[in-house]
Amino acid sequence: MKKQDLKSLTRNELISWFAKEGYPKFRGKQVFNWIYKNGAQDFDEMTNLPSNMQEDLKEKSFISNNLILKDVFSASDGTTKYLWSLSDCETIEGVYLPFVKDGRHSICISSQVGCAMKCSFCATGNDGYVRDLTPGEIVEQVTNIQRSISKEEFGEPRISNVVFMGMGEPLDNMDSVLKAINIINDEKGMDIGMRRITVSTSGIVPKIRELANIEMQLVLAISLNSPNNFLRDSLMPINKKYPIEELIKAVKYYIEKTNRRVTFEYVLIDELNDSKELAFELAGLLKGLLCHVNLIPLNPVDQFNFKSPSKKVVNEFRDILESKGIETTIRQERGKNIEAACGQLRHLKK
Ligand code: SAH
Ligand code: SF4
Repeated sequence: MKKQDLKSLTRNELISWFAKEGYPKFRGKQVFNWIYKNGAQDFDEMTNLPSNMQEDLKEKSFISNNLILKDVFSASDGTTKYLWSLSDCETIEGVYLPFVKDGRHSICISSQVGCAMKCSFCATGNDGYVRDLTPGEIVEQVTNIQRSISKEEFGEPRISNVVFMGMGEPLDNMDSVLKAINIINDEKGMDIGMRRITVSTSGIVPKIRELANIEMQLVLAISLNSPNNFLRDSLMPINKKYPIEELIKAVKYYIEKTNRRVTFEYVLIDELNDSKELAFELAGLLKGLLCHVNLIPLNPVDQFNFKSPSKKVVNEFRDILESKGIETTIRQERGKNIEAACGQLRHLKK
């Protein structure tokens, strides 16, 4: 008999599995609570279960532990990068970003080993695609970081925000990502608010429409990086399949369905996409959309020649967008010296 991995189930699925196995439903609820509220890693910790049930559960199921921590890197600003290896020895990375001023404890996690999108400025894309992560492997990044930052076992500070901006294209592995979101959002578990979960995509149009139809309250971020097809084609090959007009149409549909403000991310690369003309063109493209722009000065990646623009150029780009009524922020630089910043994550070749 194949044992059931309890970590790959949402709360409802877990309760159904318990019912199917002939246990009372409330036992399923208790076990979900143990795993996600208390961070239990095995049945012996679940002290309110009768011991014969603990033994029975061990025979029929397990609580997977897929991630083995290989290395931790910490920067002086508290940013911490985790390198994990998976059961097939592939590696992934996740990052913890504490924001002391506003009490936010954000984490940035991966959705795939590598990425198939091949954006020209991104270390993950440069390494190519290896495989999708399972829901359990996604959820475990969250539980592992929670365990590591907790002062007491699985306690304060609680992770408040989760962004899918680590390795991989989340909408290229949408079912697993949504299942993982369902689990970490569950109020009986980690209870991370839907509005504090961000899914960032390079722009897979049909998946954006699918996501719109589910009408979840999460934050959708679109990695735009250029306001026109000519330039975007050269930076992000996905644009040849889903050009900007189609992308914007899908974003409009998303806003209509969810009433949620969308974020556009724009990585600024020196003398490539940082001119004033492009700032005006971008403002024109986004005019009237319920959105916000997040400018990300490029984080250098060793083998590429791209550079980050000067502070002055970044500020001017922002000022132009703001002058046209587009709310714009500049991404604070974090964790650069430990290569934990956007686009710097990579998996190790086996
Ligand atoms: N695949 C998804 C999510 C992961 S990438 C996506 O592309 O949206 C997360 C963000 O990192 C994206 O906005 C991407 O444009 C940005 N990024 C990639 N490489 C970067 C680099 N070298 N410097 C700064 N940001 C980068
Ligand atoms: Fe993949 Fe995002 Fe990197 Fe592009 S920027 S290669 S979509 S991870």
